[in-house]
Amino acid sequence: MDVTKILEYQALDGEKVKINRELKNSKEAAQYMHANEAMKQAIENVAKKSTRAAQLFAKAELLMKQYEDACREFDDLSGEIDGIGDDLKRAEFYEKTLTKLDNIMEQIERETQEALSELTRIEKEGGAEIDTANKNASWAKKYMEDVNKLKQRYAGELDAINAKQKALEESIDPALLNVYRNARKQVKYPPIVKLRDGKLCGACGIELSGAELGKLKDGEAFVNCPTCGRLVYKPEE
Ligand SMILES: [Zn+2]
Repeated sequence: MDVTKILEYQALDGEKVKINRELKNSKEAAQYMHANEAMKQAIENVAKKSTRAAQLFAKAELLMKQYEDACREFDDLSGEIDGIGDDLKRAEFYEKTLTKLDNIMEQIERETQEALSELTRIEKEGGAEIDTANKNASWAKKYMEDVNKLKQRYAGELDAINAKQKALEESIDPALLNVYRNARKQVKYPPIVKLRDGKLCGACGIELSGAELGKLKDGEAFVNCPTCGRLVYKPEE
């Protein structure tokens, strides 16, 4: 089977691959990716901080409730002390309990203070992260425009290649074109490679089996390389 036309078709795909690679490796694309990553990271940081802030709010609320309970208990006990008169033992007990409560309240105050200062810090840092996210979002937008300009610059070339392929399609057996296109989707470019040294896959270098080599010898256009999946053809001697 004549593979000349399909190889021409593949070479045109190769030109497209090259253009796409240039686009992908362009300074513009790298800048866009970088800004986009930084934006995503900042958004993630804001989300983390807001989760932590919610936890701290809940903690502060709980601490306030505990504080109120302790206050109430303190007040009740203080009231009871007034009525005990000369009972020293009971007076001692009340005093100890009040001291304990006092310590608990101090501890609660300390923890509340810590939670509030962490909240203040998070709020400040969160604001900075939001600024970073916004800045990077506008950079990403600008770089995306640069990428699009670059794409437009290549668009003419790509159109010309596509037109050539369209014209070639008329002269290629549809079944063959199908086989090529399926392989194109499954393996890296190029999907069709030459048999090397009469027995090796031209892409990955594995030695093909006698059965596969026999098929090529008998005039089959291609055999599938069992290792890399490419279509291997036997060049004219
Ligand atoms: Zn191979």
